[in-house]
Amino acid sequence: MPADPLTIARDLIRCPSVTPAEGGALDYLADVLQRAGFAVHRMTFSEPGTPDIENLYARIGNAAPHLMFAGHTDVVPPGDTGAWQHPPFAAEVAGGLLYGRGAADMKGGIACAVAAVLDHLAAAGGRPQENSKGSISFLITGDEESVAINGTIKLLQWAAERGARFDHCILAEPSNVEALGDTIKIGRRGSLNGTLIVTGRQAHVAYPHRGENPIRGLTQILAKLMAEPLDAGSANFQPSNLEFTSVDVGNTTVNLIPGEARARFNIRYNDCHTQASLKALIERRAAEAAGSVRHAIAWDASNADVFVTAPGPFTDLVAGAIVAVTGRQPELSTSGGTSDARFIKDYCEVVEFGLVGQTMHQVDEHVPVADLQTLTAVYRRILERYFS
Ligand SMILES: [Zn+2]
Repeated sequence: MPADPLTIARDLIRCPSVTPAEGGALDYLADVLQRAGFAVHRMTFSEPGTPDIENLYARIGNAAPHLMFAGHTDVVPPGDTGAWQHPPFAAEVAGGLLYGRGAADMKGGIACAVAAVLDHLAAAGGRPQENSKGSISFLITGDEESVAINGTIKLLQWAAERGARFDHCILAEPSNVEALGDTIKIGRRGSLNGTLIVTGRQAHVAYPHRGENPIRGLTQILAKLMAEPLDAGSANFQPSNLEFTSVDVGNTTVNLIPGEARARFNIRYNDCHTQASLKALIERRAAEAAGSVRHAIAWDASNADVFVTAPGPFTDLVAGAIVAVTGRQPELSTSGGTSDARFIKDYCEVVEFGLVGQTMHQVDEHVPVADLQTLTAVYRRILERYFS
């Protein structure tokens, strides 16, 4: 009998695993995977100032090629549970829809991957490939929705230190926009935060010649940075964009020229830039606009760099399986916010393909039960082609 993704998804949703709680979700997966022949490792990672996080790494087979399924069992809080028509951790099915926190993001996707792998193993005599080649692993973290410090990044390091080499990864995040099969995510823009600081000289407004108003210099630089595009986009990316998010003087006195003015900004950037070249470009433009105005740019330390898995054999294989099962030709997209793919890309080619993301993080999060069956069929097709 084929493995049932709906049963697995419901079992997972009933584990209240709001970050950082494990909620029983990893215990459940460990049990299912162990019974299928996986070597299962449970790791708890710690870092001062953050909660300890439980994670899971499971592998079957010990030869190449090595296909990894990655994901997270932690979920965002349900918010006001009274606003849910179907309780967030009850996993109710109504009108062909499975309701619950994590249904889309991303216990549903993990359930489909597990079901597809169980079916694949059953068909191949309990191994990834009948000739005993090939490995399949699950890399599941409980730390994605929060700070992502004690999760995927450390789990990958842990596995690599013990000799694991990954060839390809499917991250089962809800990549589709409107219908299952419409979108594979192959990369993400980078994200960079900075603060522009302009220094002037404080003075009484009645004697402006004794002061130097930093707001004048700030607006001059802002105008220049907002006016000039950063690039025109690239083969796989939309144009980069700089947005100012706050302008701060903090002056509560009506007759005082302030001594300093600041503006915060974020840049979402594509593969026309590296972080270093982008910083240099912004600093040069600011200097041009500033003239003699005293200014500085402070860059935040924690930023996500741009990455892309170039379209090629692996993206073709995944897209081909999607076309075969759904009839939809997926778009290869680099839009949206960050995910753990930003860590995985340092180890192997990674694409994101899962359920439809429309209701993720919302009240009454849900997915069509039919989509669970379809996604399982897509993963199954990918496994067949990958290991044939
Ligand atoms: Zn997610």
